[in-house]
Amino acid sequence: MSFTLHGIAVSSGIAIGHAHLVSHTSLEVAHYILPKHFIDEEIARFDAALEATRKEFSSLRSNRPIHAVAEFDAFLELHQMIMDDPLLSVAPREMIAREHCNAEWALKVQTETLVAQFDEFEDAYLRERQTDVKQVAERLLKRLAGHPGHQPSAARHDVETILVAHDLSPADLIQFKPQQYAAFITDVGGATSHTAIVARSLNTPCVVGLHHARELIREDDMLILDGEQGVLIVNPDKSILAEYKLRQSEWELERKKLKRLRTARANTLDGSVIELHANIEKPEDIAEARENGATGIGLFRSEFLFLNRDNLPGEEEQFEAYRAAASGMDGQPVIIRTFDLGADKQIKGMERVANNPALGLRAIRYCLAEPQLFRAQLRALLRATHYGNIKILIPMLSSVSELNQTLQFVAATKQSLSSEGIPYNSEVKIGGMIEIPAAALAIEVFAKKLDFLSIGTNDLIQYTLAIDRTDEEVAHLYDPLHPAVLHLLSHVIGVANKFDVPVAVCGEMAGELAYTRLLLGLGLRQFSMFSAQVPSVKQRVLTTNLPEIAAITQKILRADDPLKIRDLLGRLNA
Ligand code: PEP
Ligand code: MG
Repeated sequence: MSFTLHGIAVSSGIAIGHAHLVSHTSLEVAHYILPKHFIDEEIARFDAALEATRKEFSSLRSNRPIHAVAEFDAFLELHQMIMDDPLLSVAPREMIAREHCNAEWALKVQTETLVAQFDEFEDAYLRERQTDVKQVAERLLKRLAGHPGHQPSAARHDVETILVAHDLSPADLIQFKPQQYAAFITDVGGATSHTAIVARSLNTPCVVGLHHARELIREDDMLILDGEQGVLIVNPDKSILAEYKLRQSEWELERKKLKRLRTARANTLDGSVIELHANIEKPEDIAEARENGATGIGLFRSEFLFLNRDNLPGEEEQFEAYRAAASGMDGQPVIIRTFDLGADKQIKGMERVANNPALGLRAIRYCLAEPQLFRAQLRALLRATHYGNIKILIPMLSSVSELNQTLQFVAATKQSLSSEGIPYNSEVKIGGMIEIPAAALAIEVFAKKLDFLSIGTNDLIQYTLAIDRTDEEVAHLYDPLHPAVLHLLSHVIGVANKFDVPVAVCGEMAGELAYTRLLLGLGLRQFSMFSAQVPSVKQRVLTTNLPEIAAITQKILRADDPLKIRDLLGRLNA
């Protein structure tokens, strides 16, 4: 049966392929019967997953962060105990042998039995431990997913495959290679969530917020995904398929044409020079940034080096990563953000269930609470400044005392490197992300103390409008054109320009063509975005005349009616 679903378009392009359903944080797994001669192998696969998880626990224990000793050890002990419960470690083996089912299914069934036992407890604390049981089972399932065994409907590689999930974390997505999947679709998520950001940087079409797609789609269903319109067509008829194949090739042709602008300078018609930089997650992304003509890296989200691993990257490993990024850009600026962990990016084994993670221990707050981790990163960053044009960016600053503390950390790290005779650029520029309304309103003091500013519109909008950027239920309220947002942007850019402090926008707004002229009109001269978008934004810059857009930008700033603002924006972009 053919049907169409609508969601939030977060990464453009058209994908046509077969559905591959995956389970992330839930225990939905496939059930299939194995031929008799595969049973021993399946049991061995289950045993290997148990063993690998045991090793993972002991590695987590030896690499645990200093401040979390008691809590963290208790957590690991409890999880190890749960894993060693015969219902999780023995019963699934017996079930595979008896029923010839796959290991994932046996584990799911036995987990449900154990969870039901916890449900019976009168004591609320014990009842809540069923969450731990599920987490242990998920850990084992992930291990099993690393060794897929003999699944009859495992992802097919002879045809394009579209990954269908209820939810995917940024850490899940970053593990995929570009083009490994033709597209991603999820039931939940918002347009500026980090999952969406990673999908864009993988250059893979993605639609989120499709609500019940995971339930309605069957493995191997034929799918068409329009990442521009947020439309998903399941089991299309022949004529629709033909139409989308045509659209797909037109879209690819357009992309190729735009890439010809790679070496052109991004000057406006009146001759103003605009810098178009790229956002990256890993040093390997540099190649794509250069291929698309980015003249610098405006945001290296260094926290991605910390995800999907059992240990944390030490100073040496980080130093190599930062040096590789710097030398890859051949003297062009590389702005590396100190790690923005917390909220939707958690270190393995340290997942906190904060009541309000976006308002909790995140970014610079987390760095200052983990001085040892922060010091190691600062040492690695400062050492790498000797090998290229690196600048350091501090995320989520909200108060001057936080900034002062951070600058003291930098000064102390410089001092210790000097005393060890290790070279670094003593003039390295330190910038701050302006992404909390408090910092935007009090911008003067930040502008005085910092060498440059970078506006994180994703968070600035989230915090100004009180909208969780990862929640599809409120995604329609996420509005970059809200007068409050525009006034904050105008204020920050205006003050930065007055103080002669370089200012950029590195949130997703910088890569949205609809806002290029508006941001230029507000006085912005530096944009940083996902690499693939650089050519399109460049084309828009090349056709913009700054004196011509000044009056209409001011009108947009003065307007308070959303329809009027949209109408004026339409005229600006005409
Ligand atoms: C932002 O908030 O706009 C930003 C660029 O940082 P991130 O998306 O990583 O939070
Ligand atoms: Mg941010």
